[in-house]
Amino acid sequence: MRHSWSMNIASLDLAPYWMPFTHNRYFKQRPKLIASAEGAYFTLTDGRRVFDCLSGLWCTPLGHSHARIVGAIQRQVSQLDYSPAFQMSHAGAFELAARIARLAPEGMNRVFFTNSGSESVDTALKIAIAYHRIRGETNRTRLIGREMGYHGVGIGGISVGGLPNNRAMFTSMLVPGIDHIPHTYNASKMRFSRGQPTWGAHLADELQKLVEKHGPDTIAAVIVEPMQGSAGVIVPPRGYLERLRSICTQHGILLIFDEVITGFGRVGANFGSQRLGVTPDLITFAKAITNGVVPFGGVIARQAIHDAFMTGPPHAIELFHGYTYSGHPMACAAGIATLDAMEETGAIARSAALEPVLEEAMHSLRGEPHVADIRNFGLAAAVDLTPREGQPGLRALEAFERGLDAGLLLRFTGDTLAVGPPFIASPDEIREMARLIRGVLHDIK
Ligand code: PLP
Repeated sequence: MRHSWSMNIASLDLAPYWMPFTHNRYFKQRPKLIASAEGAYFTLTDGRRVFDCLSGLWCTPLGHSHARIVGAIQRQVSQLDYSPAFQMSHAGAFELAARIARLAPEGMNRVFFTNSGSESVDTALKIAIAYHRIRGETNRTRLIGREMGYHGVGIGGISVGGLPNNRAMFTSMLVPGIDHIPHTYNASKMRFSRGQPTWGAHLADELQKLVEKHGPDTIAAVIVEPMQGSAGVIVPPRGYLERLRSICTQHGILLIFDEVITGFGRVGANFGSQRLGVTPDLITFAKAITNGVVPFGGVIARQAIHDAFMTGPPHAIELFHGYTYSGHPMACAAGIATLDAMEETGAIARSAALEPVLEEAMHSLRGEPHVADIRNFGLAAAVDLTPREGQPGLRALEAFERGLDAGLLLRFTGDTLAVGPPFIASPDEIREMARLIRGVLHDIK
């Protein structure tokens, strides 16, 4: 029998829960609660069944209630529910780290565990700063992010992040010594592009200008999402990441790819790095590694970065960093089961095979009401809607709400709708999603 919380919204006290990244007052006037999920669909408490257009929040590519993952967690919780993360561990943590190392780009084979994307980002930034310091390059303290980048909500993450709203209230807390290179989106040059835009590689040269401004030996690391997800699927121009890589290599700067969205198949390869043919020095991951079932994340480092820490007396702790729940047994069980399921079902190849289906389906919306741009890469796409005069964000909000009636759980930020369907979706389900979005676009004002 499936457990269920109250299905009766009227009996719930909605006030105490302060919801994250949510218009709390608006929501509580019109609450929408999810009761259950199976495969690529959610069922709401009012009985509506909706297609999971964004795989949760980019985190459930294998669909919900996956029998293998559910079984693995059930077995794990009855055998070892928790194991201290410091000075002790359990086999699952080592097994999962080894599995991830095998999937990672060549030479990136040391894995640190966290519980979220935000923690992964702050961990990667700390590793980068500490790496230079232990090698005697104590001046290398500057960090460089990118406009419109999203790197979670930790202090490090919002400091290198480039979404203005996420920083505005916290300017006094931001880490000093951080610059941002420009984002790569330019509507007039790349509107309706399919896959990687051909314009924009030269924007990487802004990094070179910062190197010249501050001095090459002051910059510790550059962090970018290979494909900017939260800003609305902003796809790297051809040649752009290659140029960032070569400037970093030339000046001893570490390149961090934040692969919290792009890791584990979203762009048709294990990591965005492999799809795009550019290998960074550190990779952050989270989300899909446990199919969203248990919070989890981590950082993959080049071996040389890890080894640089392994120099003091062997009984001394090398990195004063970690979390009570790093390598949690439940997360490791979920992670191993997710990788097993991905391998056995060829899920990442399936993601790659669905990419042209999603591209065709989404670009067929060109010319529909309110559509200002459509972009896609991997199994991800975004549709920009023209904002309503004087009411930014309202049109996409209306589309989101109409979507629920039409059978879609859409994701929107600002006036952008983003989709990233589960890899288990069929081509017909993806086409149907686009057909339903078309209907929504005709329905909204
Ligand atoms: N980095 C990227 C690229 C993300 O997309 C996200 C979340 O969407 C994060 C970091 C933060 O992850 P979390 O919400 O698990 O802290």
